[in-house]
Amino acid sequence: EIADSDPALAPAREELRRVFGFDDFRGRQAQVVTRVLAGQSTLAVMPTGAGKSLTYQLPATMLPGTCLVVSPLIALMHDQLRAARANGIRAATLTSADADWRETQDAFRSGELDLLYVAPERASQPAFREFLASSPLSLFAVDEAHCVSEWGHDFRPDYRQLRPLMDAFGHVPRLALTATADRQTRADVMSQLGIPDDGLVLAGFDRPNIRYAVRPRDNAVRQLTALMKEQPGPGIVYAPTRRKVEDLAEKLAAATGRQVAPYHAGLDPATRAANQAAFVASEDRVIVATVAFGMGIDKPDVRFVAHVGVPKSVEGYYQETGRAGRDGDPAHAVMLWGAGDFATARQRLSEVDEARRGAERARLDALAGLVETAGCRRAVLLRHFGEDPPATCGNCDNCLFPPGVTDVTELARKLLSAAYRTGQSFGLGHLQKVLTGAEDERVRQRGHDQLSVFGIVGSEEARMLQPLSRALQARGDLVATEHGGLALGGSARAILTGESVVEIVIPPRATRSRRGRDAA
Ligand code: ADP
Ligand code: ZN
Repeated sequence: EIADSDPALAPAREELRRVFGFDDFRGRQAQVVTRVLAGQSTLAVMPTGAGKSLTYQLPATMLPGTCLVVSPLIALMHDQLRAARANGIRAATLTSADADWRETQDAFRSGELDLLYVAPERASQPAFREFLASSPLSLFAVDEAHCVSEWGHDFRPDYRQLRPLMDAFGHVPRLALTATADRQTRADVMSQLGIPDDGLVLAGFDRPNIRYAVRPRDNAVRQLTALMKEQPGPGIVYAPTRRKVEDLAEKLAAATGRQVAPYHAGLDPATRAANQAAFVASEDRVIVATVAFGMGIDKPDVRFVAHVGVPKSVEGYYQETGRAGRDGDPAHAVMLWGAGDFATARQRLSEVDEARRGAERARLDALAGLVETAGCRRAVLLRHFGEDPPATCGNCDNCLFPPGVTDVTELARKLLSAAYRTGQSFGLGHLQKVLTGAEDERVRQRGHDQLSVFGIVGSEEARMLQPLSRALQARGDLVATEHGGLALGGSARAILTGESVVEIVIPPRATRSRRGRDAA
């Protein structure tokens, strides 16, 4: 590891002060810059805000030739361009939105550019390859590099064209950058882009001031109201659909008397922009939004981020909750989840391309692991990003209020048998009636009172059926069918045959009964 005081970095630090006006490198920047200046291809995985752009912009000003930057969004490119030019860096973009192609091409050919930004689809054009050959290159910088991997959450086929392009300039080092690469995605990005195994630089992902909490959702409005009463500052509530966004915004405003505005792609652009601007400017507003909200928003004092429903992935969760507490002051991240969230997500697996299904399933399993753990949430998150964190953090729900863990293998067998014997086409409500031996017309009509599983669950055990079903659905051992029935899936068979143990987390009673704590 390179210490920031490494004398080899002196010229780079000099340039850092001169061009950017910063006193020193932050985090792993020095390590990345050192590698790039030495011509070593690198994958830099750093959280948003860590200062990734500097790791190619600085070498670009120091090395002879032009650094080609591949970036997926034109808007993002133009932001970067403005910032780079403001620092006096000679930069240009070649996108469909630019009118000054000729000037840019001339500047590149005469070696007058430090940075040239392009979209990945350029890479596949033979004419572009010829153009690149017309002047020396210093570096390939590939931003949002997770887009090259099908394991990533944002695969873009155009990124696959980058490899042949870069291989055509084999002597030019590569720097891939991303904020969101788990272990598998990372390995894939490195092999897809031809970065050697020892070329990984991983920055700290911990956000110690964020307190993570994950709770079953019983009444989202009530749970969020409790959270908002404890948290007077600005907050973001993520909801899965436009309808839920509208509905929650209205109900939360009524229940709390606070300013709560909706944000989703279906609102007219003027309203959307106004709601966003009001939120960014305020010290107490709450915005209820779909995941479309938040990209590129710089609001350091967000005091809480809540999810109603599970996010798409652990990476998504990290990124969305990462919008809380950027000022370093205490902030909360609260996820309210339900069995249905996983049921829907697992159902969608069947519509996913065969080739991608494994990755999608792994993504859901990782989420289920985060939701269901009795251990430290932060440790689960950081391990997901390849770090080796301490076992406890002292600042998440499970560290603060350790939950109990119960072995419910026996009950799981009963529930799975009931689902199986009733033809895997009934929901939890019906299965509960069968298992507890309820007097019920529908149970009798179907002859389910004649089954061996009828009435085999006592009232004490029956309380556990719902959390158990939720856990089994999260893991995919119980799968909701299109018609609302529960069918066996995942490791259901191993559970039935006694090869697999089922443990579930029991939320601590003390924290459940104190109303205000419910959501926080
Ligand atoms: P990322 O791309 O990793 O999300 P950016 O490159 O946008 O992050 O940088 C985030 C912010 O950090 C920018 O405002 C940038 O100017 C600032 N920054 C980057 N490096 C340093 C540094 N060494 N010292 C101080 N501020 C820095
Ligand atoms: Zn913890």
